[in-house]
Amino acid sequence: MKLVEKLIQNRILSKEEFVELLANTDAEDREILRKEAVRLREKYYGHDVYIRGLIEFTNYCRNNCYYCGIRRDNRHLERYRLTKEEILSCCESGYRLGYRTFVLQGGEDPWFNDDRMEDIVRSIRTAYPDCAITLSVGERSRESYQRLKEAGADRYLLRHETANEAHYRKLHPEEMSLANRKECLYTLKELGYQVGAGFMGGGAGADI
Ligand code: SF4
Repeated sequence: MKLVEKLIQNRILSKEEFVELLANTDAEDREILRKEAVRLREKYYGHDVYIRGLIEFTNYCRNNCYYCGIRRDNRHLERYRLTKEEILSCCESGYRLGYRTFVLQGGEDPWFNDDRMEDIVRSIRTAYPDCAITLSVGERSRESYQRLKEAGADRYLLRHETANEAHYRKLHPEEMSLANRKECLYTLKELGYQVGAGFMGGGAGADI
């Protein structure tokens, strides 16, 4: 049996088999994998397309992740923040265009403290009760996540690049911690958020 077929049948391979597959994938393997991906997508999502209104409302960030274009030490970047009114105006345009999910995404910008974020989320919730509100604003305290949930946020995206400590250290400076990242994910889930973790392939040290 080909390794791709074994993967599809058992849904897992050994580490050695994955390495061999990744190193020697041929055109036939890729076609088998593509067809399986289409089959699974149709099984779970049909042919619908889900669209999200993504509002990148700040590119300030207090962190310094090595791979990130908006890390705090990047001095070659023009920084911006949207005002609450600008964010609400984005929602208004999005709603008119048919968007029913708004994603507020930004760096970990201290300007958007709990009071400001709560006010923005509550305003969107009040104006658009039929829309989902997703936040993607990084690591915050339990109290902060709770306040934002109570203000009306439904979902939270917190990318979880790796679960491997050595790999994590290749991507982040000492001041950040994998343990805290994971703790945030558990907290968000406990508080009732729908949590999206995502993951990143091909970053520095991905072969660890
Ligand atoms: S916390 Fe996010 S936005 Fe900030 S530097 Fe790291 S990856 Fe970039």
